[in-house]
Amino acid sequence: MICDNISVNEKGHLTFAGIDTTELAKKYGTPLYLMDENKIRERVRVYKNAMERYFPKGSMPEFASKAFSCKQIYRIMAEEGIDIDVVSAGEIFTASSAGFPMDRAFFHGNSKTDEEIRFAMEKGVGTFVADNEEELKAINEIAGEMGKKQRVLLRVSPGIDPHTHKKISTGSTESKFGVAIETGQAKGFVKLAIELENVELQGYHCHIGSQIFESEPFATTLEIMLGFIVEMKKAFNFEPEILNIGGGFGVRYVEQEPVIDYDEKIKEVSYVLNKQCERFGIAIPKIHMEPGRSLVADAGMTLYTVTNVKEVKGYKNYVSIDGGMTDNPRYTLYESPYTVVLASRANDEKDFVATISGRCCESGDLIQEDVNITKPLKDEILAVLTTGAYNYSMASNYNRVPRPPVVMLKDGEDYLAVKRESLEDICSLDI
Ligand SMILES: *Cc1c(COP(=O)(O)O)cnc(C)c1O
Repeated sequence: MICDNISVNEKGHLTFAGIDTTELAKKYGTPLYLMDENKIRERVRVYKNAMERYFPKGSMPEFASKAFSCKQIYRIMAEEGIDIDVVSAGEIFTASSAGFPMDRAFFHGNSKTDEEIRFAMEKGVGTFVADNEEELKAINEIAGEMGKKQRVLLRVSPGIDPHTHKKISTGSTESKFGVAIETGQAKGFVKLAIELENVELQGYHCHIGSQIFESEPFATTLEIMLGFIVEMKKAFNFEPEILNIGGGFGVRYVEQEPVIDYDEKIKEVSYVLNKQCERFGIAIPKIHMEPGRSLVADAGMTLYTVTNVKEVKGYKNYVSIDGGMTDNPRYTLYESPYTVVLASRANDEKDFVATISGRCCESGDLIQEDVNITKPLKDEILAVLTTGAYNYSMASNYNRVPRPPVVMLKDGEDYLAVKRESLEDICSLDI
């Protein structure tokens, strides 16, 4: 199967992390998010060990928690001893409520409000990744009011197009994120950070996009960023302690996509780093990376119950499920590919071409179009694989559909990490 935590048992049922998925569907109901805790920890360790091995001491992965945010994931990351990214008061509150050491959190985002900045400082967030000059001034002012000196990284845009989907490409000069190097504005940003009294400039941050399979775009990014470091050293005699090169390594959603050896990719990036630092005559900064999806995507799976199969003669076949864009909006947003398997008969011939359709009143509410699956019967369990990233975290209550629970699987056991939303929950804020 697409990942080594997926298999088929003697009954022909799909298993995930060694557990029969049809049994889990019976126990918890559907739709149901499953997360393989061991796989998450395994991935975190691959990144952490590789970064310790190939980069200078103090280099560290940060989990981009927008990919999957709930209290339990922050507890896991705390136990694994890695840093996290947070982007909102909501993520900060969740991490802090879970007891995550907030000194290890990096606060991102291109549109932080003053209230959020203050809230983040009160919660002890260690580092702010300042996106623009107005924000940097606000951080400085609020830190001053609170009698703090706030650590900051500056987000700059290196002017890179990593050839990924336009909506997940974030490092080009015209991007809404960060301050552009190409236009010369990034230099003014650095000058300001050095001058402001209540911020302590630690270095630079960039993030070029997501679903990147090669190390080459990162190498190009590094060359640009190191060139920028040299320029800033000349201009202001400032050398950064940290260079954050962002997240974005790809994930294998379908068989046609390559298997990624993250250790090998990180090693490739380190060659470029060492070579270029030597060439430019600068100290090698501590490297931070911010993997989101590559830590959690294939630790996830979603189970649905088939509600009906509709064959539009001469046109299209639809398999309708009891979930859809409310629990996984990624096909609707980006036409993301996914692998779909009939969990109750996972070894049967996949000779039915079907479009998996969600339950919302939108023609665009689809999980996949025209994929080969085993023709299901009503009430059978359908599994969508590799849904651990940007599914639960992007879920909505459109059509007032309650969000599914998250069940974690660990060492052959299952436990609830997030409860199923109830109909009462849906109305809980209504007056
Ligand atoms: C989304 C994002 C990430 C994570 O991207 P993945 O593709 O999930 O690895 C990292 N850093 C920043 C700033 C992001 O916006």
